[in-house]
Amino acid sequence: MNDWLPSAMDVILSVILSQIAIYGQSVYLHRCLAHHSVTLHPSVCFLFRLSIWLLLGSNPREWVAAHRLHHRHADTEGDPHSPLFEGLFAVTFRGSKLNRAACADRAVVNRLTKDIPSDFVERMPFGRRYGGIALTLIFFSLCTGPLDTFWIYLLAFAQILAGIGIVNGLGHLPGPQVSGHIGRNLRSFALLTAGESLHANHHASPANARLATAKWELDPGWWFISFLRHVKLAEVRRLR
Ligand SMILES: [Zn+2]
Ligand SMILES: [Zn+2]
Repeated sequence: MNDWLPSAMDVILSVILSQIAIYGQSVYLHRCLAHHSVTLHPSVCFLFRLSIWLLLGSNPREWVAAHRLHHRHADTEGDPHSPLFEGLFAVTFRGSKLNRAACADRAVVNRLTKDIPSDFVERMPFGRRYGGIALTLIFFSLCTGPLDTFWIYLLAFAQILAGIGIVNGLGHLPGPQVSGHIGRNLRSFALLTAGESLHANHHASPANARLATAKWELDPGWWFISFLRHVKLAEVRRLR
């Protein structure tokens, strides 16, 4: 009875997978590649890049190009994923499509990511958008069976979408905090989003490797960077 419901292990695995994807976005794509606020050891970059390919299928250069456009045009026309123009629903559920649309012109991507040259890894198998996700689904199907795989991926995907909706959607909706600043700090969601929900802090100082600026703000992405720095796998380029 109720054999079709997700097991506790499905839920735990979904949290682990979604957090790996969220940390990959926050620490690697965002703080390392897009803003150069931290330099990661090549082995850490490789693992993050592999995990992003396996779980999200995102192209790092496209992600960075879209994010740099977001900073350049935040909350105005030209922002690839503004909830003010696209709506909260589209930013949350069609975020990757919006990013891809912003990156349709390869010349724009190349211009915005001159510091991240395209390499053979991007063209061979990492660059194929759904290859990694398919591999992950096959792996989990073989290990846990199709039903558990369905739940694990659905729940992980829901958490990742929630993170995107919080940071890019709610983090840019008008509200009391937004006056005079770009973005909002949604402190209650910091644990779920590796600290990225401290979005007003980030827009105020985009190159800062640490997103928390007050004692009571949580920035787990920064905690992870501090750990990597402690074991000599990361170098912080800018604080404040
Ligand atoms: Zn923003
Ligand atoms: Zn940024």
